[in-house]
Amino acid sequence: MPELPEVETVRAGLSPHMEGARFERVTLGRPDLRFPFAENFAGRLEGATLTRLSRRAKFLMAELSSGETLIMHLGMSGRFTIDEGGAALTPGEFTHPQATNPKHDHVIFDMSRGARVVFNDPRRFGFMELFAKGEAIERLAHLGPEPLSNEFNGPALRAAFKGKKSKVKSALLDQRNVSGLGNIYVCEALYRAGISPTRAAGRLSVAESETLAGHIKVILREAIASGGSTLRDFAGASGELGYFQHSFDVYGREGEPCNNCAAPITRLVQSARSTFYCKTCQG
Ligand SMILES: [Zn+2]
Repeated sequence: MPELPEVETVRAGLSPHMEGARFERVTLGRPDLRFPFAENFAGRLEGATLTRLSRRAKFLMAELSSGETLIMHLGMSGRFTIDEGGAALTPGEFTHPQATNPKHDHVIFDMSRGARVVFNDPRRFGFMELFAKGEAIERLAHLGPEPLSNEFNGPALRAAFKGKKSKVKSALLDQRNVSGLGNIYVCEALYRAGISPTRAAGRLSVAESETLAGHIKVILREAIASGGSTLRDFAGASGELGYFQHSFDVYGREGEPCNNCAAPITRLVQSARSTFYCKTCQG
């Protein structure tokens, strides 16, 4: 499932093809994704220029010259392909490369600068929503700070966790405390910070909160940087699908030796999600 760094890489990949370009033709392959498309979805986009493409948590936000805002979410399996009349590129490809099945091409944007941007989503947990000018975007209202912003730091994390008995792993996944973090990077950040995922969130010390917030930022920046470099390499390779070469310290490594102490990595199920950690290094 795409997490914040993958969404940011997708944003960076789409931006040169979409920002400042007009939607010339919008084609929908079906009436809904996770949610139904807004009424007259294609008609509201066609003729509008995408003035700015930004990201909030795991949402792509396209501001339109009409004053409306298009929100796009990749869900579990959504991905964009950019076809400029030659080889199709897939920015931010996360899983192993697979040819996309065109029957899952649900949305096609033909942009005025010549790019055809296709949204393919076999499982349809992704969605696109259009908001009129000035309309409140309820979905974004309760999101906590962006982890890479200055608002997010040790004291902010400690304040968000104050009095919380929930486990630090679950508290980091709670989008009200900090937005955009998913299972993978939470496991990795806790490992680097040396904090057990089973600790109560409200019991982290000032120093631990500082360390954890710092590692969250570093890990996300590293992932974004690696996505960016993969994307550049990939753009040069004709027709081949690219994907991130992520290397994780704990995620998906149950039973394998810890990179620090060689003890086997433990897997634990918390809130129906797998947590990976080192019992020796994370206290
Ligand atoms: Zn260890």
